[in-house]
Amino acid sequence: MRDKASIVKLVSIRYNVCMDQAGRIASLIERLGNLLRAEERTSGTGLLPVHVQMLSYLSVCNRYSDTPAAVTEFVGATKGTSSQSIAVLERKGFLRKRPDAADGRVVRLNLTAKGRKFVENNFPPDKFGSAIGEMKPDDRAALTRLLAGLLASLQKENGGRMFGVCHTCRHFRRDALPGSHQCGLTLEPLTDDESMKICREHERPAA
Ligand code: SF4
Repeated sequence: MRDKASIVKLVSIRYNVCMDQAGRIASLIERLGNLLRAEERTSGTGLLPVHVQMLSYLSVCNRYSDTPAAVTEFVGATKGTSSQSIAVLERKGFLRKRPDAADGRVVRLNLTAKGRKFVENNFPPDKFGSAIGEMKPDDRAALTRLLAGLLASLQKENGGRMFGVCHTCRHFRRDALPGSHQCGLTLEPLTDDESMKICREHERPAA
């Protein structure tokens, strides 16, 4: 049986190993982020990485998540930076604003055909797409799961929204309505396509 001093030493070694690994993982993610942003700058359109992030988000978010506030939260920008970026993207013809059908005070952001084409051609950037494409499918799936889990933990710690994929939400009701799924929060129907989109109201199922 171990004495108290050796248990404390063991816990301390494990803690230090864990911190070393956390530092290594943080450094890898930081470098990957830098590479990704560098590639996004080379799209030849004069768009900044934050613009590309906004466009790629709008290409996959659902109808509850396409407001300026949701985009701002997703990219983690300040309100001022975000509204300037939205204005640039609107001026360049990548997105358009439209009033919400039910509440004219709410603004929705929709990609134009030019915006959709830009995302199709530029996100993910080519080199990133090919490097990930060379991974084994199981490794890709494992990496996606691990990164999504890490992101969710960090978002929870920060009290931020999850922005998860709809069909993994605790409010998602599969086949609850004739011919469609249902959102348990809004009670509105959801198509298969919508169930694959990102939602700002997403909540993780209970463990
Ligand atoms: S089920 Fe969850 S993720 Fe899907 S629309 Fe409803 S709140 Fe959003």
